[in-house]
Amino acid sequence: MTETNPFESLQEQLDDASEHLDVGADVLERLKQPERVLETTLSVEMDDGSIETFRAFRSQFNGDRGPYKGGIRYHPGVTRDEVKALSGWMVYKTAVVDVPYGGGKGGIVIDPSEYSAGELERITRAFAKELRPFVGEDKDIPAPDVNTGQREMNWIKDTYEKLENTTAPGVVTGKALENGGSEGRVEATGRSTMFAAREVFDYLDRDIAGATVAVQGYGNAGSVAAELIEDLGADVVAVSDSSGAVHDPDGLDTRDVKDFKRQTGSVTGYDGAAEEFGNEDLLTLDVDLLVPAALENAIDGDLAREVQADVVVEAANGPLTPTADDVLTERGVHVVPDILANAGGVTVSYFEWVQNRQRFQWTEDRVNEELEAVITDAFDAMIDAHEANDTRNLRTAAYVVAVRRVVDAYEGSGSWP
Ligand code: NAD
Repeated sequence: MTETNPFESLQEQLDDASEHLDVGADVLERLKQPERVLETTLSVEMDDGSIETFRAFRSQFNGDRGPYKGGIRYHPGVTRDEVKALSGWMVYKTAVVDVPYGGGKGGIVIDPSEYSAGELERITRAFAKELRPFVGEDKDIPAPDVNTGQREMNWIKDTYEKLENTTAPGVVTGKALENGGSEGRVEATGRSTMFAAREVFDYLDRDIAGATVAVQGYGNAGSVAAELIEDLGADVVAVSDSSGAVHDPDGLDTRDVKDFKRQTGSVTGYDGAAEEFGNEDLLTLDVDLLVPAALENAIDGDLAREVQADVVVEAANGPLTPTADDVLTERGVHVVPDILANAGGVTVSYFEWVQNRQRFQWTEDRVNEELEAVITDAFDAMIDAHEANDTRNLRTAAYVVAVRRVVDAYEGSGSWP
């Protein structure tokens, strides 16, 4: 697998988009670096009384369109460069769906599976204490990411509120419903992936009902996307997780597969499937639509040459290496980029924050309707930019839309020393 520096990928994507935009080199340079990065060491008491230290980061990439927004991940592979790149992608993700946020991202270098719940709570609260001067409902709003979820967000909110002696539910999103979370948040990423798939088939004048689909990764994003795409009448013929892939040419019952995975921990062994194979084979299956919903860089240049689907909708962040992206573009494969297809998560995070500020809970139907409007508007804006600029692919078109919005906000604000 090709090693890719995510920060360099981001810079290349900005360069591609800038070819279609009247943006000065000075302004573009400004968009390539984070405004600030907090790097800190957390010293936390373990259950046995010893003290352990952890590196932690928060990158605030750009706040021209609103408060910094983005998740916090717990992973041994977290690096300063990765956090910076991920915070940059958030700037363009929030801009392409036109929610009034900038971009941020954070992380702790840790393998959370090695720590007790009590230790993780103390580690999270120590990070929240460090973050306190930098975050806030109108400043920077963290959210869950890899290996963090409602529990960690509840701890961060509680720490912040205790230290500030106030209530501020909008300081983080992705909270549990009873702690100020939103209906529809858990399904939001899979739902936006489904909307993106529906819209691209419509744009290509093809019927998604009856289309064959393969989904790589059967976690939160992938399983919900599979269920909702099946509801459109498509045949989800293969799904995979880290244990392998299951395949049925007549279409799988996606909800049944999810129940099976919930009970057993993996999709392999599911007895409703005709056959099983290794998870890389799923990526090159002869299907109409491929949905990568697992990890970054899942498809490199070599694999991209073997991909048979002619539509790819990216539920995962950065599932294609830059080479794979070039190969698929040359081969005429239509790729709906991550910053649009999986933006349901950040969009419903925004709805959660709006509900927190309004102190008024929306119904799930309202959340889903508003999400549909946001994703279809973003899709239309991307297609308009693609056709008006003859961009090389839909990803560049999405960046053209997003970079334009960020630059307009920056230039419209006038100069400040
Ligand atoms: P998750 O942990 O719930 O699921 C990930 C799935 O991928 C698991 O089923 C895992 O077994 C599988 N997987 C791992 N390695 C694999 C491999 N080599 N082959 C096949 N499957 C493999 O995570 P998630 O929340 O669903 O996130 C998935 C992707 O979507 C990530 O890239 C994430 O950044 C992105 N994303 C998620 C959200 C969200 O709200 N959950 C929002 C935006 C983007």
